[in-house]
Amino acid sequence: MPKYVYFFGNGKAEGKSEMKHLLGGKGANLAEMTNIGLPVPAGFTISTEVCTYYYANKRSYPKSLQADVKKLIAKIEKAMGAKFGDLKNPLLVSVRSGARASMPGMMDTILNLGLNDRVAEGLVKKTNNPRFVYDSYRRFVQMYGDVVLGLKPVHKDEIDPFEAIIEEKKKVKGVHLDTELSAEDLKELVSLFKTAIKEKTGNDFPQEPMAQLWGAIGAVFGSWNNDRAIAYRKMYDIPESWGTAVNVQSMVFGNMGDDSGTGVAFTRDAATGENVFYGEYLMNAQGEDVVAGTRTPLPISQLAKDSPKLYGQLDKIRKNLERHYRDMNDIEFTIQQGKLYMLQCRIGKRTAFAAIKIAVDMVEEKLITDKDALKRIEPDQLNQLLRPVFDLKEKESAVKGGRLLAKGLNAGPGAATGRVVFNAPDAEAWKKRGELVILTRIETSPEDIKGMDAAEGILTARGGMTSHAALVARQMGKVCVAGCSALDIDYSTHTMKVKGKLIKEGDWISLDGTTGEVIEGKVPTKASEVLQVLIDKTLAPKEAPVYQQYAKIMSWADKYRRLRIRTNADQPDQALNAVAFGAEGIGLCRTEHMFFGEGKIGPMREMILADTVEERKAALAKLLPLQRTDFEGIFEAMNGRPVTIRTIDPPLHEFVPHDEAAQRELAAEIGITYEKVHRRVESLHEFNPMLGLRGCRLGIIFPEITEMQSRAIFEAAANIQAKGIKVEPEVMIPLVGNVKELENQEKIVRRVAAEVMKEKGVKFKYLVGTMIEIPRGAITADEIATVAEFFSFGTNDLTQTTLGVSRDDAATFLIPYVEKEIYAKDPFEVLDRGGVGALMKIAVEKGRSVRSDLKVGICGEHGGEPSSVEFCHEINLNYVSCSPFRVPIARLAAARAALKDAPAAKAKAKKRK
Ligand code: PEP
Ligand code: MG
Repeated sequence: MPKYVYFFGNGKAEGKSEMKHLLGGKGANLAEMTNIGLPVPAGFTISTEVCTYYYANKRSYPKSLQADVKKLIAKIEKAMGAKFGDLKNPLLVSVRSGARASMPGMMDTILNLGLNDRVAEGLVKKTNNPRFVYDSYRRFVQMYGDVVLGLKPVHKDEIDPFEAIIEEKKKVKGVHLDTELSAEDLKELVSLFKTAIKEKTGNDFPQEPMAQLWGAIGAVFGSWNNDRAIAYRKMYDIPESWGTAVNVQSMVFGNMGDDSGTGVAFTRDAATGENVFYGEYLMNAQGEDVVAGTRTPLPISQLAKDSPKLYGQLDKIRKNLERHYRDMNDIEFTIQQGKLYMLQCRIGKRTAFAAIKIAVDMVEEKLITDKDALKRIEPDQLNQLLRPVFDLKEKESAVKGGRLLAKGLNAGPGAATGRVVFNAPDAEAWKKRGELVILTRIETSPEDIKGMDAAEGILTARGGMTSHAALVARQMGKVCVAGCSALDIDYSTHTMKVKGKLIKEGDWISLDGTTGEVIEGKVPTKASEVLQVLIDKTLAPKEAPVYQQYAKIMSWADKYRRLRIRTNADQPDQALNAVAFGAEGIGLCRTEHMFFGEGKIGPMREMILADTVEERKAALAKLLPLQRTDFEGIFEAMNGRPVTIRTIDPPLHEFVPHDEAAQRELAAEIGITYEKVHRRVESLHEFNPMLGLRGCRLGIIFPEITEMQSRAIFEAAANIQAKGIKVEPEVMIPLVGNVKELENQEKIVRRVAAEVMKEKGVKFKYLVGTMIEIPRGAITADEIATVAEFFSFGTNDLTQTTLGVSRDDAATFLIPYVEKEIYAKDPFEVLDRGGVGALMKIAVEKGRSVRSDLKVGICGEHGGEPSSVEFCHEINLNYVSCSPFRVPIARLAAARAALKDAPAAKAKAKKRK
């Protein structure tokens, strides 16, 4: 019979941390902590296989489960010396979800399960602490009513029905804090809650502990498919098939008086990565008080002063965990009457800044290797390092001008500016209209996840550094200021008062997530530290600690990656940016982009409108020096690095004006009739220009264009070489599907190269290659490679032509396609390995079968997307080429691909050029 439940307790566990697929992250780590001797209350985990079974069998359980659960409850009872449902010494349990990947707050949790009216009375006798008992009971009924019986707010502006009852009670009693309510008040709350449940749901609150337990287990499995969990899974690519585990664990209480408490902490600072114990705790409270942000907790450093012994124990556990897991951990603990218990540990979520700092520091502390460090940083996280910060002067003047509204906690670093909205659906709707928004809430809850995703920044009035808003914002890489208690938010009027000012929905505010400041109005932003060092050159590397860490990670990435990284650039400044980011060459210079520059569009239009070869040649003669200068600029910027220049590609009709007035103007400019311009433009019209007269077809129909472009390239090469700079142009012919097309163009290129060498009396090296971007090109790659000295995959067009999906018109159905999981990801963003990838593989194999040293790269947009970069590594390309700002991402992605493929990489260790 399959094993569905796993026990932990009394220093021994049936599971371990490697069993996350079965036990979920929480269950696996509870087992691991038990095994390494940390104080963990006994419990058991129902495996994710039960979740799979549950959904495959109309929400029912495997036959053996009932007996298993009963047996393990008995085992917990033995370990804890208490009995479920007992009136004298009752065992209470928590029931929590726990998926393989952490999904903070997305699924359901129930605490204090096992309480009923009689058990509560019994517990009062045992503890002599009626306040604690009825506080626990009212929390349990509240959670159970919400999670299992479905009593929730119905409208977005409504408050939680249980909270409404509590607020009413506090008003009647004239008190402000929950803690000021007496045991009798709390007992009454239980009764009011039960009545509300009966009234609103028609169901009684169950009194029998085993029935409570099965209700809770069902609700937790059910919560795997609630809206927010589904949305979260989509956002973070968590497969539905993983399912969640359910953890049933003996309760320990942080609300048993002033010698009890609860807290959450990170073994290092999750926002900055600094190696300090970072957390918060609350005495006389239960876990959700800290996370929900309803009371503002104390910093963990305070515990060192208040209870050095407990702090010492915790700090030892902190070091133990870091040594054991060799990573930063996020922990939850409870102190019950002076005794410390660990309730959770997991690898802590962190900002990109923190991820990099922690990885670099841990290499220096010899906890991990540089390879481990690379594996820990997601390439896309680097985006966060390149994000803007406020222009300091502008911010200073805003603050001096009295626009500093308030200060909260610096929960998610970075700078954001946007218009205030007060609920998540509004954030989504405004974002859809193209607005920048700051989602402003009293506190956030998992329901707000989509709105948080839509917002530039998140601002909350309540809650600490580990509140929901703070955790989720950091994970999303969002700017966040939390716990800004000066805000007096009124959801019903969509306004807030702060510092005597009234801020209305739609007003602009700015958040500095690095300092926690909230500023009225817009504050301009400027480049990040990394950009200030690399691009603007306004900051010295030694004054830029974030840059230094970035540079270290990049140098390790370069040590292990096999793929070369090039960039797609058509302007010298773009090329220089890319080199600063580590580009080793240009993989695609789109020459048609150069014609849009100042003074070039005129002769280009003349060329297009020419009737005869002579007229066309005359126009091309005007373009030649302009192109030559462009190429010289590019060669100079690249300073000896390889440069791939593609001959002109897009449909010509893009270059001519389409409205009458502009056509008349053009006619006057070049001295021909409006009718002629109009006729020519009409004749250039194509129904599907992406598959029309473009790519090599242009150069074949109008060979003088290829001739001019080749001449511009080679003359520029000769001129730059004369300055002592090494140049090796790679001339690339686009959209080739038949070797004869390439032969046709190659002849022109080589003839012109020979002519230029002769005229200038110099020699230079150059290559002629092609793009592989239509399926016939891939399939006949062995023929094409007899002529081509290199291939570059144009995966934008190869995706379009392989899928038969127009790259310009796909959005209308590709988004629903992705939603329906027909494609896992937009194939124009993430390479379609099964189709496009298969063709690439064929092309690489066939191409290298006739030319073993064939250089192969990619220059479609996929060249800067981490999973596509990994595929390019796997099929042994020489390089990927991507936009300048994605170069760091590609470097890291390439290194991670090489490390993943370490044995294979060793076999073919040589780095291709
Ligand atoms: C491609 O098709 O992938 C490519 C790089 O060329 P372009 O996007 O210019 O068509
Ligand atoms: Mg293309």
